Amino acid sequence: METILLLAHPEADGTLARPALEALNFARELAAGLSKSSLLVGLVGAEVQAAANALAGCGATRFLGVVGTDFAPSRYSTDAAAAEALCRAAGATVVIAAGTSRWNRVLAGVAQRLQGRADTHVTGIALEEGRLSAARWFYRQRVEAVIQRSHRPWFILADPGCGEPWAAPAGTATLEPVAVALTDAHRRTTVSRIQAPPADEQTIRPDAKLLFVAGAGWTKTQPDGKTHAEEAERIILDFLAKTKASLGSTKSLVDLRGEGQTVLRFLTHLNQVGQTGSTPRHPKGLAACCHGEEPHAVGWRFISERRAINLNPNCGWAQGKADVLYVADAFAVMRRVNGLLAAT
Ligand SMILES: Cc1cc2nc3c(=O)[nH]c(=O)nc-3n(C[C@H](O)[C@H](O)[C@H](O)COP(=O)(O)OP(=O)(O)OC[C@H]3O[C@@H](n4cnc5c(N)ncnc54)[C@H](O)[C@@H]3O)c2cc1C
Repeated sequence: METILLLAHPEADGTLARPALEALNFARELAAGLSKSSLLVGLVGAEVQAAANALAGCGATRFLGVVGTDFAPSRYSTDAAAAEALCRAAGATVVIAAGTSRWNRVLAGVAQRLQGRADTHVTGIALEEGRLSAARWFYRQRVEAVIQRSHRPWFILADPGCGEPWAAPAGTATLEPVAVALTDAHRRTTVSRIQAPPADEQTIRPDAKLLFVAGAGWTKTQPDGKTHAEEAERIILDFLAKTKASLGSTKSLVDLRGEGQTVLRFLTHLNQVGQTGSTPRHPKGLAACCHGEEPHAVGWRFISERRAINLNPNCGWAQGKADVLYVADAFAVMRRVNGLLAAT
């Protein structure tokens, strides 16, 4: 008998973000596949009734809530105390949460308090002969491991973007409050504000449908014998503003900054995709002016549809890495694309 607890927190507007709804689907699939199980929802936040109502039809038998303004911000001390109290109140054997920065920071510690085990970056769960298996990737997404544990409680943090979000009309859920006694020590850290760039300056957008990856070619000498980095910046930023695509970069392009060469000023190593960068998950990807080396292909592993623009018909993308390769000048192509986007 597994008691499965989904841990979630509402956003500032009271809604549940997509990663939480994806994690709920993981929990539901698990509960549906087991002959004996119960599904519970544990919510943490200043006000969680609206979130509980949104999940009323998910099949959970109980909705537990740690509620209060102390639990609104992402803060280790209060999040850990709330999660621990919810796990104890639920008698959870399996705890599933979205692998967001907020839960990733906290749940290994909560597992320690409950003498459980935690697995992060889980990309899928399955039942094999009635036993729960969690899959995750190692060594820069080259090796997939399937993990089974008999130890309980088992904390599973599901990587966002690996499943469909649960969706159904809202209802009315009966919320059971779970008390957490806070001391001054819990409140020692205060969250004064969140500092973040305006949405339009934020170029890394994990939820975007399209990943646009810029390569070093944007800053290289072009057929007219000159470099056109400023125009490259304008073209790329215009495309991002129009499409709200997420921006990735090759290593070479972000490394140029350290070498004092012409750079695209809005790129940092956070944009870097690949073996030594990130492995994003977007439905579509478009690479322009990048060669498509093997390390880069590692970074594109989870992009479902890949397209590339390169002047060189023998570039790495042509060697089976892209579904469609446009052998063309990326400046010309993207100028035209931006023109078409502006017209629509
Ligand atoms: C240990 C290790 C780890 C690495 N990790 C990573 C990693 O995580 N991510 C990563 O990206 N790289 C990584 N690299 C580097 C990688 O091997 C490549 O060197 C790098 O990705 C190449 O970058 P690029 O394609 O932007 O540049 P280049 O290889 O210089 O390619 C530029 C391309 O732009 C094209 N081009 C130029 N002008 C135009 C134009 N007007 N229109 C269209 N195309 C044009 C050219 O034809 C060329 O193909 C790693 C290397 C090592 C050794």
